[in-house]
Amino acid sequence: MEKNTLQQDNKLLSVVIPAYNEEGMILKTAETLKALMDDAGIIYELIFVNDGSSDLTQDRIEEAAEKDQAVRYVCFSRNFGKEAAIFAGLGAAKGGCAAVMDCDLQHPPEVLIEMYHLWEDGYEIVEGVKKSRGRESIFHRLSAGMFYGIMSKATKIDMYRASDFKLLDRRAVESLLMFPEYHVFFRALSSWIGYKKTSVEFDVRDREVGTSKWSTSALFKYAVNNIVEYSAVPLHLITGIGIVSLVFAFALGIQTLVRYFCGTAAEGFTTVILLQLFSASVIMIGIGIVGLYLAKIYDEVKRRPRYIIAKMK
Ligand code: UDP
Ligand code: MG
Repeated sequence: MEKNTLQQDNKLLSVVIPAYNEEGMILKTAETLKALMDDAGIIYELIFVNDGSSDLTQDRIEEAAEKDQAVRYVCFSRNFGKEAAIFAGLGAAKGGCAAVMDCDLQHPPEVLIEMYHLWEDGYEIVEGVKKSRGRESIFHRLSAGMFYGIMSKATKIDMYRASDFKLLDRRAVESLLMFPEYHVFFRALSSWIGYKKTSVEFDVRDREVGTSKWSTSALFKYAVNNIVEYSAVPLHLITGIGIVSLVFAFALGIQTLVRYFCGTAAEGFTTVILLQLFSASVIMIGIGIVGLYLAKIYDEVKRRPRYIIAKMK
C-alpha cells in the first residue's frame, strides 16, 4: 500500500466540534476529551466552532481555551448552520487527521480512540455508524426514517444509520475543502469522495444538557434541501409522471372519441372539471419542484461565502 507521508509525520488529531447554544456542554466536553486523549497518549487539538450562539457559548469556549492549550475555536458572525460549522472546523484543523463530533456528547468520545487507531492502521475515512438512534419522538423517528429512505436511494449510502461522527485523513479533508458549492452536505460528500473506508458502530447517547436543535419542521426543510442538493431524482420523477399521464391521456382520448362517434359521449362538465383540477395540480407541483432546483441554482451562482468568521484562535 502507498504510504501516506502526511499521516506518517503528523500524528495530531484535530477534533472539530460544532456548537450552537451549548453553554452547558463546552467545559464538560473539553474536559472529557482532554482526559480521554491524555489517557490514550494521543496528541490532539479541539476546535470548537461557535455557530453564532446567542448564549454564553463563546465565553465558555474561551474559558476552556485558557485552561487547555489544545483548545482552539472559530466563532461565526451569526448562525450559519451545522454543515458550515463542520467545514469551517475542517478548514482550521492542522492535524494529520480530523474528526467531527457533536458538542452534546451524544457521540461517545471513547469511539474517537478506536477511530484514531483504525486511521493509524491505514484507513483514510472512519465512519461512525449508529447502532441505535437514541431517544426520539415517534413522529421524529418516522419523518427521519422517510427522509433517510429517500436519501439512501438517491445516494446509495445507508443514510438512516449514517452520522456526522467521522474521522478523516488529511487527504480526505483536503478533498472536501476543494468543494466549491455553497450548500454542502458533509454526511454524503464524505462518502462521495471515496478513499479507503471503514466504519465503527456506536450507540447514540441521550443529550445531557439543553435540547436538540432539530424541530420536525426544521428536519423537513433539511430533508427537502438535501434531497434537492444531492440528487436530481425528483426532476426525473416529473418526467416519469408526465409519461405515465401521456399514456393515460392517449387511452382516455381514444375512449372519448369512440364514445362521441357512437353517440354515447359523457355528459356535463363534471369529468372536465375533475380532469382539469387534477392535471393543474400535477403541473403546479411539477413547476414547484423545478422551482426548488432553480432556487438552489440561484443560491449557488451568487457565490456567497459559506460562513463568516468573526473571531478565531
Ligand atoms: N449545531 C450547530 N449549528 C446549528 C445546529 C446545531 O453547530 O445550527 C450543532 C450542535 O451544537 C451540536 C450538533 O450540531 O453540537 C448537533 O445538534 P443537535 O444535538 O441539536 O442535533 P441532534 O443531535 O438532535 O441531531
Ligand atoms: Mg445532539
